Amino acid sequence: MNDTVNRAAADTVADWPVGEAAAGAILTIDLGAIRENYRRLKARLAGVRCAGVVKGNGYGLGAAQVASALTREGCGIFFVALLAEGIALRKAIGSRPDIYVLNGLPPGSEPEAVTADLCAVVNSGAQLHAWRAAAHAAGRRLPAAIQVDSGMSRLGMAPAEIETVAGDASAFDGIDVRYVMSHLACADEPRHPANEQQRLAFERLRTMLPRARASLANSSGIFLGPSYHHDLARPGAALYGINPTPGEPNPMLPVVRLQAKVAQTRHVEKGTGIGYGHTYHADGPLSLATISFGYADGWLRRSASAAWFEGVRLPFLGRVSMDSIILDVSALPPGRLREGDLVELLGPSQSVDDAAGHAGTIGYEILASLGPRFHRHYVGG
Ligand SMILES: *Cc1c(COP(=O)(O)O)cnc(C)c1O
Repeated sequence: MNDTVNRAAADTVADWPVGEAAAGAILTIDLGAIRENYRRLKARLAGVRCAGVVKGNGYGLGAAQVASALTREGCGIFFVALLAEGIALRKAIGSRPDIYVLNGLPPGSEPEAVTADLCAVVNSGAQLHAWRAAAHAAGRRLPAAIQVDSGMSRLGMAPAEIETVAGDASAFDGIDVRYVMSHLACADEPRHPANEQQRLAFERLRTMLPRARASLANSSGIFLGPSYHHDLARPGAALYGINPTPGEPNPMLPVVRLQAKVAQTRHVEKGTGIGYGHTYHADGPLSLATISFGYADGWLRRSASAAWFEGVRLPFLGRVSMDSIILDVSALPPGRLREGDLVELLGPSQSVDDAAGHAGTIGYEILASLGPRFHRHYVGG
């Protein structure tokens, strides 16, 4: 890894405003586990290239830190969603890696993408035209991935649009088409017929475009088998420890640990109202602990409703507040939990996928929601 990458990652951590003593909650991010997850995906890809998807600030965990860690595993291709993310990532990780902007470039922003040396993901004929004009203005060929819509109806050129550009001999002038790519809608359901339909549509649409490497698989797509691997895989979720094979054991290592501090403890008698709206009343004498952690930290109000301490489950009582949650700690020996102690919200006792399951959501949303107030502690980089 080059020095620029090292320094940028270190600065980002050092600049983080919240020290461990001052914070209400601590988010530990295991960059070593992310690296191991990358190696596991690479092993499964058997020689096919593997990018790192770091959109949404690296699924909430820090795009600069994650990308720097992956760079050390030899990863040289990153995907972000927005141009703004691409510009920030370029500053953080230096000039070497390729950075693709999945959502395409907003009209008029092409010069900024050129300045930051980013690769466009071209999703429409208009974007192709604008990138070609940017190449002309820059006086050099500009790199791009052409995204085709193989059946998700979200981003990428529609088949009719592909036919139009295919009939225009100069459509790709000045553009270095490095990949033709598409995205799977149902990859986490291996038996879903849309997977095969999309794969076949992708193979067909590719043939109409300039010859280039192909990329289709996200995390779950890698587990659909080699016919989905093509020349480049684009995993995000699996790198961050989210199970890419729902319903089967998670082949990835967990990456995050989230712990909240006990702000206060108390005992209450039977019948006492607890929290906003008194939605809960003590059904007997109870030991309570209030933690400095709430929905302002991105914990969805419907999310997993227990914390853990030394393997003991501590249920939430009453409503989640903005900055606090009241726990029933009666299962612990009296006085065992004290002010300043840490309880676990995510970690060995409760995985990201567990927490998501309780909330009727997906691990992606749990991670992407994690708020800015934590002390972030990076280990294993
Ligand atoms: C988010 C995204 C990915 C990564 O998907 P995961 O399910 O997180 O692995 C890959 N490709 C595209 C186009 C995406 O939007």
